[in-house]
Amino acid sequence: MNEQSVKTNQPTDSGFLRILLVEDDKRISDFVERGLKAEGYGVEVARCGQDAIDVASEGQFQAIILDLGLPDINGRDVCERLRKQGLDTPILILTARDAVQDKVTGLRSGADDYMTKPFAFEELLARIEVLVRRRSGEIKLDSKQLQLADLLLNVDTHEVKRGETLIELTPKEFALLECFLRMPGKVLSRTRILEQVWGYSADPLTNVVDVYIRQLRRKIDDEFELKLLKTVRGYGYKMDAS
Ligand code: CA
Repeated sequence: MNEQSVKTNQPTDSGFLRILLVEDDKRISDFVERGLKAEGYGVEVARCGQDAIDVASEGQFQAIILDLGLPDINGRDVCERLRKQGLDTPILILTARDAVQDKVTGLRSGADDYMTKPFAFEELLARIEVLVRRRSGEIKLDSKQLQLADLLLNVDTHEVKRGETLIELTPKEFALLECFLRMPGKVLSRTRILEQVWGYSADPLTNVVDVYIRQLRRKIDDEFELKLLKTVRGYGYKMDAS
């Protein structure tokens, strides 16, 4: 592997969801990398197809963003090779042109989704989240019930349980828990939590999020051995069963 064209930005044991970004255009990769990191993802960048193949087969990634126009191996072939190697990580391809044929061949080569450049970062982020969630084994999607380990949340009845123990939550605590359970393992910043649960960008200096996290933690974690709600210092919070 060409060490110079691969940047490792997060230690492998960081506990972050990790994204492999394959893009030879530095302007675009810098922009996407910054955005993803601000959202709490760990990002690794590969600048050519061969590096992408090497890094993807070594690393544990929750998703791969793959540019089709690479200097050595076409992104479509990279995708095909990764699938042939048995890699089932979700892949989102980036195409420079709005060519229908590019999209079709990209999807046929085993990609899960595609986006045409130029794109809005918010849309890329939304699509990545969908791919990551869809692949996560810990969450049952399109179901009334969200589950993480022995924690169950019923979206319809607003019932929350750990094992057989019923847990009483206020509406805001419930919304906060639902927000985490819809993105298991994903680090959520305070700003992001404010937007999702309170529905606006409140003053990020307010400690309302920390107050609610404490309350929620007391109810869902304090009396149980397996702690689910984790603090990720300097970034925010996440829920997972590890
Ligand atoms: Ca390119």
